[in-house]
Amino acid sequence: MCKNSKYSKESILKMSLSHKGKCHSLETKEKMSKSHKGKVFTEEHKRKIGLANSFSLTGRTMSEETRRKMSIARSGEKNWKWKGGCELVLSRKIRKCFEYSDWRRKILIRDNHTCQECRTTKNPQVHHIKRFLVILKEYNIKTVEQAIECQELWDINNGITYCKDCHRYIENQDRLKRKIARSNSYNLFVLYLLNLVE
Ligand SMILES: [Zn+2]
Repeated sequence: MCKNSKYSKESILKMSLSHKGKCHSLETKEKMSKSHKGKVFTEEHKRKIGLANSFSLTGRTMSEETRRKMSIARSGEKNWKWKGGCELVLSRKIRKCFEYSDWRRKILIRDNHTCQECRTTKNPQVHHIKRFLVILKEYNIKTVEQAIECQELWDINNGITYCKDCHRYIENQDRLKRKIARSNSYNLFVLYLLNLVE
């Protein structure tokens, strides 16, 4: 051990115990090392990280009861991966109909097949500003016929052209926002401490 180490023997032991059984991939290690290079944390920042870590669940052993509760809470509709079952099947059918391809075509023409974020004309895709599944839910649409009748679904003001990369980025941002909105107050508290949310 380095004699100039800023950690006490006790804290080194604690750190070693908390990392027991955990291993990072080479890629992760490289990323971690790069992201920390030259970085100087303020005392305030360090205090926040410490506080957030002390609340973190990683590495803790949970009781069977807790794990069962978490599993129930994360299943079905509450799971962030949940895409709405039947609605997803319906949405696939709607996307195959003429109205959908016509809506898409009109938006691409209006935006000149150009990404409205980075202005490239490569791989143009049409993004729903208000989510497709949200509209289906709002109007209680259960069939393709009902969808064809719904004006809001075919409103070209609800679509915008993005290239493949910008589209992926924007979808990820939206997903993250929804995840934060769905998460409980504990998660919000940690994110607040880390200055990720206002
Ligand atoms: Zn783009």
